[in-house]
Amino acid sequence: APILVWFRQDLRLGDNPALSDAARSGRPVVPVFVLDDDTPGDWRPGGASRWWLHHSLASLGRSLAAAGSPLVLRRGRADIVIGSLLRETGAGTVLWNRCYEPWAMERDGQMKADLRAAGVEARSFNGSLLREPMTVRTAAGEPYRVFTPFWRAVSSSPDWPEPLAAPDRLMPPETAPASDALESWGLLPTTPDWAGGLRQAWQPGEAAATARLRAFLDGAAADYADGRDRPGSDGTSRLSPHLHFGEISPRQVWAATRDAMLSGNRPEHRRHAESFLRELGWREFCYNLLYHFPKLPERPLNPRFEDFPWQPDSAALDSWRRGRTGYPIVDAGMRQLWTTGWMHNRVRMIVGSFLVKHLLLPWQEGQRWFWDTLVDADLANNAAGWQWIAGCGADAAPYFRVFNPVLQGGKFDPDGRYVRRWVPELAALPDRLIHQPWTATAETLRRAGIRLGTDYPLPCIDHKRGRDRALAAFATLRQAG
Ligand code: FAD
Repeated sequence: APILVWFRQDLRLGDNPALSDAARSGRPVVPVFVLDDDTPGDWRPGGASRWWLHHSLASLGRSLAAAGSPLVLRRGRADIVIGSLLRETGAGTVLWNRCYEPWAMERDGQMKADLRAAGVEARSFNGSLLREPMTVRTAAGEPYRVFTPFWRAVSSSPDWPEPLAAPDRLMPPETAPASDALESWGLLPTTPDWAGGLRQAWQPGEAAATARLRAFLDGAAADYADGRDRPGSDGTSRLSPHLHFGEISPRQVWAATRDAMLSGNRPEHRRHAESFLRELGWREFCYNLLYHFPKLPERPLNPRFEDFPWQPDSAALDSWRRGRTGYPIVDAGMRQLWTTGWMHNRVRMIVGSFLVKHLLLPWQEGQRWFWDTLVDADLANNAAGWQWIAGCGADAAPYFRVFNPVLQGGKFDPDGRYVRRWVPELAALPDRLIHQPWTATAETLRRAGIRLGTDYPLPCIDHKRGRDRALAAFATLRQAG
């Protein structure tokens, strides 16, 4: 009887434990992907993720067909769809790699129990993490809430297996089950087609993920520890969407980084490699938080923040989303996000801080917008990132430390390269004014061809006023707490 391999956030053939297990059995393999928009509720994939998913599935489909067994696409509630595929194909086994979103864990646990009760062999594997959250605990048996000891515990004993090779042949079932046409799922935007910038910036799929890792290790990795904080240069790997969709596994990234940078006799590489692997560690830590605190995407981890006096204001939210706050580094980030589906990590922190502090808008609003617009939108990383920046998460930046967007811009984008790229209307300003155009004289603005307030907005809130208001709001918690 054939084996069903249920693909989810593991859209690759290499280092795919469920697929390799099925291939090794020598039995026919039916690879399937189910578009389930019901079970995740509000956390079904957003617009940019759907664009990515379309192309990633197209790529996975080509690879599986070349290996011998075409991908079957079905839509609907996954438990129902998998049940009917088992009946159609006569398969007695279904294999998958684990996901850690609360809704997925609940569904998968239930499915495993139901399938086993019905006599179906249902087994799952770890394909997405170096170490799964259930295997990492403090000496006292508690989940980690602080990153550094968490990462020390995980990275000091790298006991995960070496990445698996992609199976070279998959035996197809005698009759191929019917499959939806990918185009019929409508994952791509039609009118307006907002995906032009995404197409230019990205190539989804396993081969492209591997190539991107290679290019990073041959290039920016050698300066990562310093380059990673400069949004104007390509100093990071940009692997996040590939990792989110599982087009590459963290074990593959780990092994390739070790082989390229840690095993040779290039001691100067060590600091950069460790800094990069530490970011993979943050991904692990975020998954660890989501697993142990499943309300992470909805509720502040620190309960003192439950009653934070946010000031909902749709006009302010709109100016933030559109990149029209009047603060160039904030606006550059929001426009990079809208255009390419990605934003540099340093700038994610700056725009996040601006939203929750200067604008006093709830972090959940920022998380929502990121969810819809990021190609790497990831429940664990996004929720943990927002709670961190809002000061209400585990091991978070303290709320009272309010980023000054002008100083942040000057420090991390000193030559204004990032702002000039994404806010071209300011391009002609000299470097020392690029992060604070409102301080330029009328003559300088005229020479740079800028009508402030018309071509580019004045700051929507004065920094000092925003900061004071945020601190006053925070102080009400202290009194209460
Ligand atoms: P690199 O610097 O090359 O890092 C390598 C990999 O490590 C990344 O691909 C990513 O998988 C992981 N990583 C790096 N930084 C972090 C981090 N701070 N937290 C968790 N994992 C990290 N990342 C997402 O993947 N999805 C999200 O939805 C997301 N939302 C965020 C929201 C906010 C408010 C903040 C502050 C950060 C968020 N991040 C998110 C984390 C981080 O910004 C991105 O992972 C990173 O910018 C991706 O770029 P890169 O692949 O070039 O990273």
